[in-house]
Amino acid sequence: MRAVVFDFFGTLTDPGVEAGRRDAAFATAAALGVPPEAFWTAMASSFTERITGRHGDTRATLAEMARRCGEEPSGARLDAAVAAHHQGSVPLWRPRPGVLGVLAGLRGRGLRLGVLSDCGAELCQGWDGTAYAPLIDATVFSWQERARKPSPRLYATIAERLGVAPGECWYVGDGGSREHQGARDTGMRPVLVTNAGYPGAAAHRDDPDSFTPPDAVDDLTDLPALLETGR
Ligand SMILES: [Mg+2]
Repeated sequence: MRAVVFDFFGTLTDPGVEAGRRDAAFATAAALGVPPEAFWTAMASSFTERITGRHGDTRATLAEMARRCGEEPSGARLDAAVAAHHQGSVPLWRPRPGVLGVLAGLRGRGLRLGVLSDCGAELCQGWDGTAYAPLIDATVFSWQERARKPSPRLYATIAERLGVAPGECWYVGDGGSREHQGARDTGMRPVLVTNAGYPGAAAHRDDPDSFTPPDAVDDLTDLPALLETGR
């Protein structure tokens, strides 16, 4: 095995911050001038559209969400909402305790590291400024690729960007988006992160996996030992 491909949210990030999504959305709604519950519903029901870039960038996407709430926001409202949305996104990227050390250690073993994430425009734009960026060799973001997991093209693309064959990749994720099914179908070896120490984390996963990998760890910090034994 020559590479490890990671899911982002709930895998590299701290699962404990997922509960903050609703408050972040409410702050965006307030800036946009739309009812918070209606905005939350519009965001939830448009997840696939948003993460595959169907509405364009953050500004265009928020304008569409406002329309679905029955509002036509002014330019100034949209500017404020974009700023609020970016501000609300950053805390959701907080690294899981110990994760940066794990990534550095895996790189030290000579493994190539990739991230394959179902995400909106905000992470694509903010990625280079994150603490993860210097430790990750290649990324594939659904918003940029206009496709979401478990699209086989995304798995093939991350392997290609890492310069390895899919069969040489571990795929590590907390489940959701049928990501492990996609990894297995593409020839990667999937590892589930159960997040056993974070009760309620599963509630934030979209489209849970139909396939549970035989390889599993409770926390990402347990991953290096599993990869060592499974080489
Ligand atoms: Mg995840």
